[in-house]
Amino acid sequence: MMTYDVIVVGARVAGAATAMLLARRGLRVLALDRVAFPSDTISSHQVQLPGVALLHRWGLLDQIRASGAPPTREVRFDTPEVVLQGRFPQHQGVDALYSPRRTVLDSVLVEAARAAGAQVRENFRVEELVFSDGRVTGVRGSERGGSSIVESASLVVGADGKHSMVAAAVGAASYRQRPVRAFASYTYWSGAPMIGGAIYQRPQRTVAVFPTNDNLTMVYVSAPLAEFGTFRADIEGHYLKTLDLCGDLGDRIRAATRAERIRTTPDQPNTLRRSHGPGWALVGDAGAVMDSISAQGISNALRDAQLLADAIAAGFDGTKPMAAALADHQRRRDRAIIPMYDFTTGLTRFRPRLVETALLASLQRKPGEVDRFLGVIAGAVPLDRYFAPANALRLLGLRGLARLARGRV
Ligand SMILES: Cc1cc2nc3c(=O)[nH]c(=O)nc-3n(C[C@H](O)[C@H](O)[C@H](O)COP(=O)(O)OP(=O)(O)OC[C@H]3O[C@@H](n4cnc5c(N)ncnc54)[C@H](O)[C@@H]3O)c2cc1C
Repeated sequence: MMTYDVIVVGARVAGAATAMLLARRGLRVLALDRVAFPSDTISSHQVQLPGVALLHRWGLLDQIRASGAPPTREVRFDTPEVVLQGRFPQHQGVDALYSPRRTVLDSVLVEAARAAGAQVRENFRVEELVFSDGRVTGVRGSERGGSSIVESASLVVGADGKHSMVAAAVGAASYRQRPVRAFASYTYWSGAPMIGGAIYQRPQRTVAVFPTNDNLTMVYVSAPLAEFGTFRADIEGHYLKTLDLCGDLGDRIRAATRAERIRTTPDQPNTLRRSHGPGWALVGDAGAVMDSISAQGISNALRDAQLLADAIAAGFDGTKPMAAALADHQRRRDRAIIPMYDFTTGLTRFRPRLVETALLASLQRKPGEVDRFLGVIAGAVPLDRYFAPANALRLLGLRGLARLARGRV
């Protein structure tokens, strides 16, 4: 008999959430991570409404609130053509985005996994998978400074991020892969208080500003990968120059104090991967990763954890054969993620489509519609339906559509 039902490799948002949900269903779970928590990682941390709704459903939102991460209900969406100010719509019992530091969010999830009965081993690096007759049966790895050991399980879940060692070891095929087109640069400022959040779209730039723990304001810049070399030669200078494109944001941030170093990364792959095979499954970035420009990765990972945990539980309790349950998980994941994935990879071209510009322009002075749009970019209102012809007709009218056909907004 295997020591564990499930071993989860990686214990951040995808891994810890999966471990928690499986342990809550009574499965014997071991989660392993090479880092020790609390641990930061290169990631800003807006958790969108669907992610917040899951944290609420899992009973963890109060802990996020108690950490001092403020709710963001209002957002300014500011483009060269239009400035929209609105509130997030109600979504499954929540109405705010939260932006908790990863040191907070990931630790809350790790502790919740432990409280549910999962074993979480920190400072443990998985070096390779163990196979038997073509099936994954466990992992080999070691604690820092320790000798190599093997742990076995009926199922090994790779929650080990965008450069997943589990995905590589099983040869999980990539699909719908898109090139890296953007890099991200962000840091934290004190003395720049924000009531709501703000998103600025500028030529060749996207900027996001959201309040986080410790009264700090996180300011994030995304720019085309082609400019990475130039940007890197003077990161702070280019970062601040970008903020100068956003009304008084540059002045407000220059008057504030930078609280941490600026993190800048071009490591932003876009790919979906086959998420299951004999004895293995993938969750979170390991199975589906996209550019950070739309700030969806954490919410995607939390949703994926719920979908995968449901599938695994169905496999273990015999409701469905495990292979069918895992195949079902991949279909559900893809259905949920693909519209936002395609939209996100489109955003990294920094060339809004005419229909998007026209739809945004049509929302001015329609507060209910602005709120709905904020729900769309939060992933709470289905994106494919929003940009579908029927909705364009509803918002633009026949005349607007005719103008659009002539190439005018
Ligand atoms: C610049 C930037 C900004 C971002 N901003 C946002 C945002 O605002 N909102 C948002 O929703 N998303 C954002 N994201 C995306 C988000 O960071 C990811 O989608 C999210 O972290 C994925 O979670 P995960 O648990 O799947 O993987 P990860 O967070 O990558 O966690 C993987 C874990 O696996 C562990 N691990 C890896 N290999 C091994 C091994 N061999 N043995 C043991 N442990 C291992 C790692 O130590 C790590 O802890 C951003 C990303 C970037 C790059």
